[in-house]
Amino acid sequence: MTYAIDIQQLHKTYANGHVALKDVSFTVQEGDFFALLGPNGAGKSTLISILTSLCQKTSGQIKIFGFDQETQSQQAKSCIGVVSQELNFNPYDNVIDIVVNQAGYYGIGRAQAKPLALHYLEQLGLASKANKPAIALSGGMKRRVMIAKALVHQPKLLILDEPTAGVDIELRRSLWDFLSEINAQGTTIVLTTHYLEEAESLCRNIAIINNGEILENTSMSALLQTMHKEAFIFYTKLPLLVAPALSARFHVSLLDSHSFEVLVDQRDNLNSIFSELTSLGIVINSMRNKTNRLEALFLDLIKTA
Ligand code: ADP
Repeated sequence: MTYAIDIQQLHKTYANGHVALKDVSFTVQEGDFFALLGPNGAGKSTLISILTSLCQKTSGQIKIFGFDQETQSQQAKSCIGVVSQELNFNPYDNVIDIVVNQAGYYGIGRAQAKPLALHYLEQLGLASKANKPAIALSGGMKRRVMIAKALVHQPKLLILDEPTAGVDIELRRSLWDFLSEINAQGTTIVLTTHYLEEAESLCRNIAIINNGEILENTSMSALLQTMHKEAFIFYTKLPLLVAPALSARFHVSLLDSHSFEVLVDQRDNLNSIFSELTSLGIVINSMRNKTNRLEALFLDLIKTA
């Protein structure tokens, strides 16, 4: 079977001796929408830079649609469109020129590239900006120019490094819709993110990376099924000396004299907690859901690693 991406035992040690990737292996199927999820410093950008030949690996093997990224680098590169985190065009150039010039790097002439560029600019809601210098565009629009630029040579694989970092919610939604649409039309998409919600909304499969190592590589639905504990913090009206003695299935810990934390299985409900607290005579002033699901997930994975 030919994978869109096949990474085997990838290792990266930077010149200063820092080991950013340790024996990373995973595959991405053709047509997949795949998330590479991990906290800052996990090694996501390093991995993307190696995939797109911006950075040299130390060892390991990478194939892109069957092309060896080292020995068949031109073929491998032509399969990939990449949207990096930083803007990588001259902001004084007109938007249409930025996109058309990019096609030139893949041997596509201006006459052929222009309708393609206009097509993607249109799809990304930038048609009216085509003849404006990029510097006149908002941050969100510049990011969309990056996407049009990455797509103009019609790559089979689109890689996006933190596509919605710093992007407002409305634009995030429209970018998600756009990416889902081009994925449905056959483009394989890989994105890096540190938002679990982003991965959850878009992606079918996921690899979780931390500290240069893949902790988990599974389907999104299988992963979500494993995440069933939620933490709630309760704030009491009167001071407490010890944690309330709730049933053993609730894990309770006292945080300070006026608050305690309860770990609740998502299949359970909160009514029973409240009735137990009421019978203990504890008055709750307020509560909040503490769980940062991603954090909880990492803790779980690291514990079992
Ligand atoms: P992420 O994209 O997940 O935030 P990075 O791939 O940027 O992670 O970084 C992974 C690790 O490698 C971090 O500890 C980072 O400080 C380190 N790193 C990144 N680039 C370099 C470099 N050029 N030289 C040395 N260390 C680096």
